[in-house]
Amino acid sequence: MPGFTPGRRWQPAYSPFQKESFGEHALRVLEYSVKGPLFGCRMCGNCLLAETALICPMECPKGLRNGPCGGSTSEYCYVDESRPCVWYEIYDRSFRWGREDVLLEVLPPLDWEKVGKDSWGAILRNAGRIGVKKIFSGLLFAETRAQTLDGIFRPVRQPDWWQGDSKYHAPAYAEPASDLQRRLAAGEFVFTCEVTPPLSSSTDKLIRNIDMVKPYVAAVNFTDNQSATPRMTSWACSQVAMDQDAEPVLQMSARNRSRGSVQSEIIGATALGIRNVLCVTGDSAKMSPSPRDQMDINDLDAIQMLWVLRRMRDEGKYLDGREIKNPPMFFLGAAASPFSSNPKFQALREQKKVNAGAQFFQTNLIFDVDGMELWLNELAKRNILDKVYILAGVTPIKSLKMAQKLSTIPGVHLPQHILERMEVADHAGNAQEEGVQIALEIIREIKGYDKQGIHGIHLMPIGWDEIVPRIVRDAGFISKDIQINNPARELEYAHSLEK
Ligand code: SF4
Repeated sequence: MPGFTPGRRWQPAYSPFQKESFGEHALRVLEYSVKGPLFGCRMCGNCLLAETALICPMECPKGLRNGPCGGSTSEYCYVDESRPCVWYEIYDRSFRWGREDVLLEVLPPLDWEKVGKDSWGAILRNAGRIGVKKIFSGLLFAETRAQTLDGIFRPVRQPDWWQGDSKYHAPAYAEPASDLQRRLAAGEFVFTCEVTPPLSSSTDKLIRNIDMVKPYVAAVNFTDNQSATPRMTSWACSQVAMDQDAEPVLQMSARNRSRGSVQSEIIGATALGIRNVLCVTGDSAKMSPSPRDQMDINDLDAIQMLWVLRRMRDEGKYLDGREIKNPPMFFLGAAASPFSSNPKFQALREQKKVNAGAQFFQTNLIFDVDGMELWLNELAKRNILDKVYILAGVTPIKSLKMAQKLSTIPGVHLPQHILERMEVADHAGNAQEEGVQIALEIIREIKGYDKQGIHGIHLMPIGWDEIVPRIVRDAGFISKDIQINNPARELEYAHSLEK
């Protein structure tokens, strides 16, 4: 946050939902009159200033409380371009202060019963329970200071229903939950791809596309209203895929979902047989066509979704503590962004996702393999490469216009030399073929990192679904499973090459 931003610092506080006593009212007014001008406090009721290097995270237009979204840049917030990304500022300051590991703790979503109320009351009550003498002697010595402060603040920021921490939690099951997990565990370099969910309620084209890509990929992703634009829902597409004997990856975006709907949907999805789930925070409604959806804070972020879903699976509990007799079983994934902000920052964010429950990553688009290596090196330093499978995101560029558009998207780095190649190809009327050749070159380069943490490719054809078979085949990655199980498809492909 810039040094002094009066407009932001006096943004309205959230309003409390209930009647308050005179004492509560007085404390709330006092807290707001101190923290408002100093930190731009909005009275979220669960203060994280101590964890976020004294920068209020509630300035984030998505209300993210566990780190930046995939669109974070050092320059500005992509939802509100009039301000910098508050999470970039928090990460930057935390690294400068040597407090970056504090950011690893998985923090809870807002407790809406507390929103709008003071945080100080809970802190004071907790300090009172510990006792002034004990606190004073604990703060006196450097070796007990951190523990004493944690004793005061931790119960406030980590309520009983959440209990977030900074540790890695290995999955509590042994057999692979899905075929995708089985293949990855067996050491196969896999392909997954996206198939675009239809705009209409007809499934004809969807079925054709699933059938077309099925022999070439280990699993098919269905995006969840990408760019905040309504289409057929991801779980309906996943059901259609299972009817076609294809393995789906259900994408669940935190945007437009509450903690309640996330839990009920995962129970329903796994009851239907869906075994791969990818949690994303989701594009802001800013990217949607008008009239826009709700654009302010999300109820959960992707990290909180991972934490909730992992605990439902491994501890058999809903967030409210109710037991789940037959817990859902799934292979849990998340998105990773090698080119958002700074590789060091992103690696910390990816580590937090792994700790929260991510078992596989599907990355944002990669056009710069050297840049990807920098990010991998940072992940290696954080010691997480043996805890997560990484599928590198690749997109075949279909036209010069698409290349130009991609080069402006936060979180995507399209090098100048690729743009120039597409310009030359466009003049020669050969842009599509050049886009395919670029994708194939990138895939071959990425394959060179299969011993350094990359376990496969995630193809994102962005509506060009029919190119998937050619890319997988021309990249030379038809698996033995596919050759054995789909001889007819192989023959069909061989004929198409002869034509
Ligand atoms: S985290 Fe919540 S309580 Fe703390 S300064 Fe920000 S809005 Fe206020």
